[in-house]
Amino acid sequence: MDSRSFTQQVTETVHESTVSDVDTTNGSTATRHKNQVSLTDRSVVQKVAIIGGGVSGLIAIKCCLEEGLIPVCYEMTDDIGGLWNYDAKAGMEGKASVMKSTVINTSKEFMAFSDFPPPKEYPNYMHNAKLLQYFRMYAEHFKLTPFIRFNRRVRLVEPTDDYSKTGQWIIHNENATKSEFDAAADIVDAVILATGHHAFPRWAKFPGLDHFNGKKLHSWQYKTFHEFENKTVLIVGIGNSAGDMAVELSRVAKQIRLYKYVWPSHLTHPTLAVLGLIQPWGAINPMSELQARWATRVFKGLNSLPSKEVMEDDIDDKLDEMTKRYVSSPRHTVQVDHVPYCDELAAEIFCKPDIWKYLTTDVKLGLKLIFDGCTPYRYRLQGPNKWNGAREAIMTVNER
Ligand SMILES: Cc1cc2nc3c(=O)[nH]c(=O)nc-3n(C[C@H](O)[C@H](O)[C@H](O)COP(=O)(O)OP(=O)(O)OC[C@H]3O[C@@H](n4cnc5c(N)ncnc54)[C@H](O)[C@@H]3O)c2cc1C
Repeated sequence: MDSRSFTQQVTETVHESTVSDVDTTNGSTATRHKNQVSLTDRSVVQKVAIIGGGVSGLIAIKCCLEEGLIPVCYEMTDDIGGLWNYDAKAGMEGKASVMKSTVINTSKEFMAFSDFPPPKEYPNYMHNAKLLQYFRMYAEHFKLTPFIRFNRRVRLVEPTDDYSKTGQWIIHNENATKSEFDAAADIVDAVILATGHHAFPRWAKFPGLDHFNGKKLHSWQYKTFHEFENKTVLIVGIGNSAGDMAVELSRVAKQIRLYKYVWPSHLTHPTLAVLGLIQPWGAINPMSELQARWATRVFKGLNSLPSKEVMEDDIDDKLDEMTKRYVSSPRHTVQVDHVPYCDELAAEIFCKPDIWKYLTTDVKLGLKLIFDGCTPYRYRLQGPNKWNGAREAIMTVNER
């Protein structure tokens, strides 16, 4: 098993293959499989591969549909929900799952989908099973599941031989259950990586650990307390389990330079985006959602990215800021503040609410936007794909 993260492997391939602007012929020998889809007219067909069917993947499917793009989501398990789909065994390579008892630590209105508030009767802090139910309702409401190819593991993403002209990618995927061998190589116009970043454990190393003969396990493997009853247990580490994102970022962060944590800055074409590779002070879902809305608009040609130099400067500024605020650690290279980061992305896609305008035209709403928390619905008040229910959702937050 290659313990490097999938994002790391993909971006390394991408880096090797596309770092220059010259015609890229990397000797790819992708065979045309019966599943392979060839896109000859990019102005008519815009096919987007989404890798991962967790919450970020679901959001990405919806955003593709909103922009008239054709999503194909590859999910290596047989269900949606990603790490919120509790898996007692957590046995699958690259599969993470919450513990049986995990309750989300962000309130329901704070982490809600921006145009799909959680039901009134749901608790403010949901148990993982409830949260999964909410994800299922979202998938059903927006009819997302038919776009997911379950039990398909993506092994490799690489640029096509004519990437420099087309910006297209080859998605090498296979049956994840290994019950049959049916590898495929599909050609797509754009890629969204939504594979999560909690899938591989990173062990701390300290003297004496090798000599300890008792059971040693990483929090990634811990699912329930049962086997530890009446045992003396030493817990090493002071972060919460979300801090385990250092799992892979310790290596990834040094190599990937992501503009606003979404776009690899060195690519010739903006046809590959990364979702959810952040460590937020706040909830990830609304951020993944804004990232997906931005990515799909860029794919569609409705937004453009700045020059490589501008992106690099922005990345350097963010790294400088992190260095001043935090001790040096992999986790902090992707640390973001909820409201400023959401606003930053929202500004890119013209849905950042104009609070001053609301204060003069709709004072109740304006005051609510200032004083009553940053719920995701505010990013559906105006701009592309605005939602008519957004104002009502904001005004009734406290009733849910
Ligand atoms: C224990 C724990 C608690 C957390 N608590 C909170 C919280 O309270 N609030 C909060 O906002 N965030 C929390 N987080 C952060 C968490 O990352 C997000 O809530 C969210 O689950 C991220 O969703 P995702 O879709 O990006 O990734 P995931 O949920 O990890 O989904 C990734 C999906 O990609 C699939 N996949 C991976 N590789 C491949 C491949 N090669 N091919 C095909 N499919 C693939 C996986 O099977 C999975 O379904 C927590 C994280 C952990 C680990």
